[in-house]
Amino acid sequence: MNKFVGAHVSASGGVYNAPLNAMKIGAKAFALFTKNQRQWKAKPYDEETVRKFKENLEKSGIKPKHVLPHDSYLINLCHPDIQKREKSLNAFIDEAKRCEELGLHKLNFHPGSHLKQISEEECLDNIIHSLNQALKETNGVIFVIENTAGQGSNLGYKFEHLAYIIDGAEDKNRIGVCIDTCHMFTAGYDIRTKEAYDKTWDEFDKVVGFKYLQGMHINDSKPDLGSRVDRHHSLGKGKIGLDAFNFIMNDKRMDDIPLILETIDESIWDKEIEMLYSMIKN
Ligand SMILES: [Zn+2]
Ligand SMILES: [Zn+2]
Repeated sequence: MNKFVGAHVSASGGVYNAPLNAMKIGAKAFALFTKNQRQWKAKPYDEETVRKFKENLEKSGIKPKHVLPHDSYLINLCHPDIQKREKSLNAFIDEAKRCEELGLHKLNFHPGSHLKQISEEECLDNIIHSLNQALKETNGVIFVIENTAGQGSNLGYKFEHLAYIIDGAEDKNRIGVCIDTCHMFTAGYDIRTKEAYDKTWDEFDKVVGFKYLQGMHINDSKPDLGSRVDRHHSLGKGKIGLDAFNFIMNDKRMDDIPLILETIDESIWDKEIEMLYSMIKN
């Protein structure tokens, strides 16, 4: 079994609770926020927090490479205002350092929003600039760019955006991408039939490259294909349907990376994880 499925679990009460919450739902991977995602500042971890996190991660049997921390929603690495962009960059670097402290290897982030004040290209260049600064000031963490639905002025809804950012990154060994199935679908990439699925991933491979795929978010979608609206749904209940998830679970290109549920009903995450594993046909 080379699939590592989990969910974005709660870290409330302390980051060390996240691996325990993952265990409870039978997860072999998980995502978490390394600090309160709605606040700019958080106090540094104390030794006890780091020790307990590592102890609980060990207990869960989940490997650091199958943990995909998600950055705060406040961060906008392409913010048109330089001071606000600096604030975002500092928070981003702080999160990367938190990942390093916890012994984790990846940090998943949203590219950013131009807020209709600058062009897409200028926005992408700002992201690259921020990212290169973060690469310089940290050691080892892989920055994992998430594709978006393209709602509002969010960039990252085209594979070309991801490729452009990768192209500008000064250390490509420390850059990855995370593909969210809901975002991909509402951005206009169909995966509902085998034919569409193959076509979409061929395009991904051509434009971005599978070697950069460091994780996936496994979500069904409330809105339709190409709607550019970001609303997740439980698996099989949305517009994508179960076939696409079946294809993923039987696709070797998604082996050994975290496959993370961000579906809307966390009370059924254990069942969704079980269902995904039951789809594997060997
Ligand atoms: Zn995300
Ligand atoms: Zn996502």
